[in-house]
Amino acid sequence: MEKTRLDKKLAQLRGKSYISRELIDLLDTVTHLHLDMRELAEIELPADNQLAPAEAVFQGVPLLGRGNFPYDARQAESLLDRMITLLRDAGGPLADGAAAVRAALDAGELRPDVLFRKFLEDDHEFFAPWAERMPEAPRTLSFLAFAALNPSIEAVARKLAEKLPDMKVTQSGTCPICGSLPLISSLENKEGFRQATCSFCRHQYRIRRLACPICGEDDQKKLTFFTVDEEPGFRVDVCETCKTYVKTIDFRNLDRVAVPILDDLDSLALDYVAANQGYKRATLSAWGF
Ligand SMILES: [Zn+2]
Ligand SMILES: [Zn+2]
Repeated sequence: MEKTRLDKKLAQLRGKSYISRELIDLLDTVTHLHLDMRELAEIELPADNQLAPAEAVFQGVPLLGRGNFPYDARQAESLLDRMITLLRDAGGPLADGAAAVRAALDAGELRPDVLFRKFLEDDHEFFAPWAERMPEAPRTLSFLAFAALNPSIEAVARKLAEKLPDMKVTQSGTCPICGSLPLISSLENKEGFRQATCSFCRHQYRIRRLACPICGEDDQKKLTFFTVDEEPGFRVDVCETCKTYVKTIDFRNLDRVAVPILDDLDSLALDYVAANQGYKRATLSAWGF
């Protein structure tokens, strides 16, 4: 079922003029690979007493910070290898970046376990020199790390979701599992419940509809949204207090199903408009750009 939705969405993305065929082919391969690998990831969750207690989670403390996420090392290493090959075959700046990463791995200058740890810890200082080395595709290394770890991360999030206390809506806007900011949000059902998709673990959780998930502003005068005619079903929620925006999917009146990580790409046009109006995005896109 998840696969069917994915295929439908990929087919639709192929109609977008500003997304190259090479990129869609790459996403097609990667998203399917991730779907299969998620089921195979061998993960050992930390003991329950290592997780934040329910009272803390209600206060906005994540159940398990992203730096403490366990992962399947063997799977991640083999996936890293496959991802490097895929990027090299895709051509362009990403291919050059991937070749540089391969060379660094071969030379022992870069170690997969260190790379994975630094990614989980969100260590910008580690990634900064790599970004400088590949100015044409500065996020290649973090994309590779994320792509290699994604099945583990999602598998962990799914297991941890069962351990979350029953909270109707998170007050803070950050993911109750890992503490990251939302990638995108969507409006669901008649009541218009606002559901966020986590930028790191992809957990979906309910956030306050009329509040900025980044800074918590809930003064209605500071919160607005805009839409563009070319992209029906999407809107951009902006906050005048922190000047950030979060895109929101609203397919309630459209015959479309949401696949947030791809809808994020589908609605790229809105990111350009938001940037032109001086708003910044709180998180990178699902694909690291
Ligand atoms: Zn999360
Ligand atoms: Zn705000």
